[in-house]
Amino acid sequence: MRDLSGAKHPATKAVWAGEGSYLVEGATQVPIVQSIPFGYDDLEEWMGVALGEREGHIYSRNTNPTTRAFEEKVRALEGAEDSTSFATGMAAISNTLFAFLKPGDRVVSVKDTYGGTNKLFMEFLPRAGVEVKLCNTTDPDAVEEEIAGGCDLLYLETPTNPTLKLVDIERLSEAGHEAGAVVVVDGTFATPINQSPLALGADLVLHSASKYLGGHSDALGGVLCGPSELVRRVYHYREINGAALDPFAAYLLLRGLKTLELRVARQNENAMKVARFLEEHQAVERVFYPGLESHPQHKLAKKQMRGFGGMLSFSLVGGYEAVGAFLPRLQLAHRAANLGAVETTVGPPATTSHVESSAREREAMGIPESLVRYSAGIEHADDLISDLHGALSATRAWTPDASR
Ligand code: PLP
Repeated sequence: MRDLSGAKHPATKAVWAGEGSYLVEGATQVPIVQSIPFGYDDLEEWMGVALGEREGHIYSRNTNPTTRAFEEKVRALEGAEDSTSFATGMAAISNTLFAFLKPGDRVVSVKDTYGGTNKLFMEFLPRAGVEVKLCNTTDPDAVEEEIAGGCDLLYLETPTNPTLKLVDIERLSEAGHEAGAVVVVDGTFATPINQSPLALGADLVLHSASKYLGGHSDALGGVLCGPSELVRRVYHYREINGAALDPFAAYLLLRGLKTLELRVARQNENAMKVARFLEEHQAVERVFYPGLESHPQHKLAKKQMRGFGGMLSFSLVGGYEAVGAFLPRLQLAHRAANLGAVETTVGPPATTSHVESSAREREAMGIPESLVRYSAGIEHADDLISDLHGALSATRAWTPDASR
């Protein structure tokens, strides 16, 4: 086995970590082990693996060499003791919540979470007898107050989808721990390159791997990292619940992960340049990007993030009508519901992050209908800006004040 103690930087870990035990026959790439069961001629060995006393695999709903290599790579990037994977990001979130919570428990979270997560909070957890308190995302005093009122699990997402609000991981993790809560952070938007929730005090960090980790919009997946004792509890629920990551998807995610640092560095840069351009444009009402000095939580972003990410959103002068005119004119962007891919991807929250929410629910969450979510790809920033410039100029005619 290779000694990877010299792999200190995320860029190096993204390439090398997690693969060593799974390379076979001199191959330099982890194979797709497309097998459901794993056979043993020796009954004693089989029993040892089944009881978890020996290394090995029994059945791919539980563990599989390709999915294990993926889990190991993300574990190394998050600096965690253990990790487990899921079929999707939503499976990571729902399995984590249902593994820890029981009727009578109380969850504290914030109003701005991904639409699917919000559905769990509003519909499925209350149905299971779990009380959910959703606080104003940018008011840590209010969150602390709710935590003090009783909290079994504190669930945070930062930056949030789609309005790029932040929550203070360090401060709220401390408050959560004082109340005896398990603190979970969805770090999908930031990736392990831009933010390390575990180092800031959270117990568990999870990702939709369908986004930046895979990076190519071609494989669904989810992953959870943290201390073994907590990760094993979620794994136990997941192996029974059955939301296992497919080995072929794990292979694509592993391949995508190798370039994670490169991609995210370019996406950080592109998003920053695009945000600065949009902020100056007359057809744009407001830009939401943590890297801008005008972002209300820019100071917090500088404190807890190493890069500000590839995601931004902006509202257009002229409301939803302007959005309808603007989007089709973009040439260098997929109009689609995913994010974090090498191609720039755009869409309104109504058909992307909050497709499951009604217009009224979106309004209650403070998501304007004039909002466009923009996931910067790895293209050249000048081309992206020129494309935006063209599409925005064309929509000026649709805005109430066309003369501007
Ligand atoms: N968390 C965040 C922040 C997301 O944006 C998404 C999806 O958009 C998810 C979780 C869910 O991930 P998946 O689509 O892989 O289930």
